[in-house]
Amino acid sequence: MRDSFGRTIDYLRLSVTDRCNLRCRYCMPEEGVAPLNHGEILSYEELLRVAEAAARLGVRKIRVTGGEPLVRKGIVGFISRLAALPESPEITLTTNGLGLAEMAPELKAAGLSRINVSLDTLREDRFKGITRRDGLSKVLAGLEAADRAGLTPLKINMVPIRGVNEDEIADFAHLTREHPWEVRFIEFMPVSDGLDYTPENRFSAAAIMEALGREGELIPIPRQGPAGPARLFRYPDGLGRLGVIPAVSDHFCGECNRLRVTADGRIRTCLFSDAEIDLRSALRGESPGVSLEELLRTAVGEKPERHRIGEEDFQHGSRRMQKIGG
Ligand code: SAM
Ligand code: SF4
Repeated sequence: MRDSFGRTIDYLRLSVTDRCNLRCRYCMPEEGVAPLNHGEILSYEELLRVAEAAARLGVRKIRVTGGEPLVRKGIVGFISRLAALPESPEITLTTNGLGLAEMAPELKAAGLSRINVSLDTLREDRFKGITRRDGLSKVLAGLEAADRAGLTPLKINMVPIRGVNEDEIADFAHLTREHPWEVRFIEFMPVSDGLDYTPENRFSAAAIMEALGREGELIPIPRQGPAGPARLFRYPDGLGRLGVIPAVSDHFCGECNRLRVTADGRIRTCLFSDAEIDLRSALRGESPGVSLEELLRTAVGEKPERHRIGEEDFQHGSRRMQKIGG
């Protein structure tokens, strides 16, 4: 599919739940958020029909996300059905890693190709400070398990936050010297308000680059294959790679190739815009004559050229990341 700005849209981020077993301060409030009820969430059958339609239209990669996708019952079976689609899209998943130690082998056997693990600190006390829950040792065991299971190249997503964990950038970067992992540093995004961190806590991509540069020479890695948002580097003695994702300061909208579908069946054309297209009514026969393909094409046609963060009239969206599907 081509959008109005000539971009090829071949990547779908599919959220399977808005629930989560952590409460990261930049994503969710302490009390959680009123979860969607059972009838509001798309069933696996419905999610599969969305994926089928998207694959028929040329989507080549589907990332399963949430909320925390590993907390939804039956996720392994769902992954195996996605992997069995006739177009064989690549199936990947983003997780906080808490359930990985247990599930990595079965996820791999189900046909998952790779995994991204979100981790913002390597210190136990801080883990609790950021996520409001315990669990660092579980996540670390999950990383090893994913590696052993062959869910590789393993990617770790870290969001540096000023005054909270920016002093750990070097420790995370060091992981790429010892492991063939890709550690990606993502700028904190002001996706919604009412969270503990504000735009002032953003640690910019330029500051991240500076911190990485202090640890060693950064050798740029030219892009191969479809462009992604990360600018990639490695240290001369590194086994793995470093990625910097300037989500806010240097938007990569010109290379955006994605659509998002929320767990309650709305297509989002841009992370930072509230525009949504209702798929659920069509899935449930409540919009007769409207096909999923038509709605997906409409969404592609309506993708905005770029986000407006940092501009005077920018307004936060009303959904938080865990409701959008980060
Ligand atoms: N629960 C899974 C996880 O944490 O990986 C998947 C969903 S989570 C919403 C997806 C990603 O969004 C995580 O890597 C998380 O760090 C990131 N995220 C959430 N809120 C964010 C924010 N305000 N700015 C930057 N990244 C954010
Ligand atoms: Fe949960 Fe992921 Fe949001 Fe953290 S970032 S609260 S793990 S959905």
